[in-house]
Amino acid sequence: DCTKDNIEQSKNRFFIEGDPAGILMIEFRSESDEEAIDLASELTAQLKENELGYAFPIVKGSQTASVWSLRNAGLGVLANIPGDKKAVACIEDTAVAVKDLPQYISEFSGMMKSFNQEAVYYAHAGAGELHLRPVLNLKKSEDVKNFRTIAQASAELVKRYNGSLSGEHGDGKVRAEFIPLVLGEEVYQLLKQLKSIFDPNGIFNPGKIVDPEPMDTGLRYEPDRDEPVIRTKFNFEETGGILRTVEKCNGSGDCRKLNFAGGTMCPSYRATMNETDTTRGRANVLREFLTMNVKENPFDHPEIKEAMDLCLSCKGCKSECPSNIDMATLKSEFLYQYHKSNSVKFSSRITANNSKINGWLSPVALVVNSVLSIGFIKNLIGISPKRNLPKLKRKTFKNWFRRHKQDSFERKVYLFCDEYTNYYDVEIGKKAVLLLNALGYEVLMVDHAESGRAFISKGFLDEASDIATKNVKQFAGMVSEESPLIGIEPSAILSFRDEYPNLVDVELKATAKNLAKNVFLIDEFLSYEYQKGHIDLSEFNKENKHIKLHAHCHQKALANSADTLKMLSIPENYQVEMIPSGCCGMAGSFGYEKDHYDLSMAIGQQVLFPGISDSKNKSLIAANGTSCRHQIMDGTNTVAFDPVEILFDALLVEANKIK
Ligand code: SF4
Ligand code: SF4
Repeated sequence: DCTKDNIEQSKNRFFIEGDPAGILMIEFRSESDEEAIDLASELTAQLKENELGYAFPIVKGSQTASVWSLRNAGLGVLANIPGDKKAVACIEDTAVAVKDLPQYISEFSGMMKSFNQEAVYYAHAGAGELHLRPVLNLKKSEDVKNFRTIAQASAELVKRYNGSLSGEHGDGKVRAEFIPLVLGEEVYQLLKQLKSIFDPNGIFNPGKIVDPEPMDTGLRYEPDRDEPVIRTKFNFEETGGILRTVEKCNGSGDCRKLNFAGGTMCPSYRATMNETDTTRGRANVLREFLTMNVKENPFDHPEIKEAMDLCLSCKGCKSECPSNIDMATLKSEFLYQYHKSNSVKFSSRITANNSKINGWLSPVALVVNSVLSIGFIKNLIGISPKRNLPKLKRKTFKNWFRRHKQDSFERKVYLFCDEYTNYYDVEIGKKAVLLLNALGYEVLMVDHAESGRAFISKGFLDEASDIATKNVKQFAGMVSEESPLIGIEPSAILSFRDEYPNLVDVELKATAKNLAKNVFLIDEFLSYEYQKGHIDLSEFNKENKHIKLHAHCHQKALANSADTLKMLSIPENYQVEMIPSGCCGMAGSFGYEKDHYDLSMAIGQQVLFPGISDSKNKSLIAANGTSCRHQIMDGTNTVAFDPVEILFDALLVEANKIK
């Protein structure tokens, strides 16, 4: 059930029907698809005949990986239970002989009932292994006692079945003290001898198998402590406040996975390979300082600043971490609080106020662009001289739109004019409007506030909260299922879905959440419309094109990059391939900053740049994030197009001419 609220894993529940109490997953392998499906069908027929279960979905091909990913996430998401009670790893992964498993499970369940534990477990049934974590509140001394009692009882049960305390995860600190009980004193002494031969000074990972500390010492929380009360600007109420939000990190270490494992989390660690640059490292530092703090401002610690510095706010962790640790939001809150006691960098002020400054400077864009191409000036405002800054446009997108004549159509959409499209990517904005017109949509644009993305990422939360409030109030009465709000830049439009509900006053939160249901990235909107049959294929050419797509990391975390793939595949002969890249490394202003340039390029070098260089001149490169496109240009000297531009260029009609 915990996977229902996990952004990434909820997508992997596609094969589940109804609300089953348990799921049995069986993998069939064979020489051909047909043979494997025949084998599966044979078994499902028998299961049906014996009334063992009510749904028998068969999943094949690439979807199999999603099913196993759901299974693998099981242990991690158990840590995502709201409140102080958590699934704790004192039992973890006991194993017995397969023939004994049914009897063992039944005794195990009885034992857990006697401890008032509602057992939720999953098993590698074929290997006789059972995964289980009792749910305990280790902030309370009573449950610390239960922690030991349950672990002891479990070890005694395993001993009776001649099983193993740990079938795959290892005994570690928590189960090590029960090894003599399960293996017997004689074998344990042999283990001790072995350890002392290879490690006479006891320096290799001491206390893990032999001579461990008692399992209930050195725990994360001091039992029965007074809970620190920490006030924040973001509303963390749904997860019990900021400290409980950080405490959700269960140390699983999924944020240490490397590029070959796919996904985005955690780009800084993938580049530096330092534990401090993982989501976990940041969560640990933040938790310790917020817990042990003696200062008036609990965030006023340079150590937290250092830990947060290399976080790109890519939001990879928000969807990929089994506990949904949203470090981007935590970093933003931290910066906001830290700025209360410390001066704010000049470069951060400039970045945060970028939209306002561009409003003043766009009439003299030519001068501004030449000044900003000087290395010394870039250096002065904290930008790496090696970077090419985006070119400010003299005529904004809003100016163009005011003069744009369009027919009145039955289908209407509101377009969110984000600050990046308005001042930099004006041509993309024009193409988006003309594309929508050509497909039969009237585009409405009202005078509204910027998205607030730059304020959020630099921790200017008073300004961000004012903007969120204005935008929610303005669009809530306007936008509906029939006339949704759509946006071009993922990091801007997705703020409605992600940050706004927790930045507005609590009375406006429900309105913000309702509004978000009708707010879409233009890629999502066009993909849905096509699937509903509202977009006619005959509007597009039949040319053959191969496109390589890099999706924005906020889209990957908060929406679904498959929608961009579907949107780009609308023209009949367009073949679209997803580059298995995570974050591009630019992440808004992050990669432009001189202190972050090297890391930013190192991240790009891992998957994205090689993925593009491999197919130079053979494929069109698509990227829907403005900073991703700049990173691709700086890293590979290749022009990347917004998907909207590619689809616009595929149109057959006269609209394919910018007026
Ligand atoms: S932050 Fe890392 S270690 Fe912590 S729960 Fe998430 S993936 Fe696991
Ligand atoms: S937001 Fe991105 S960079 Fe920051 S901790 Fe999460 S995954 Fe890592």
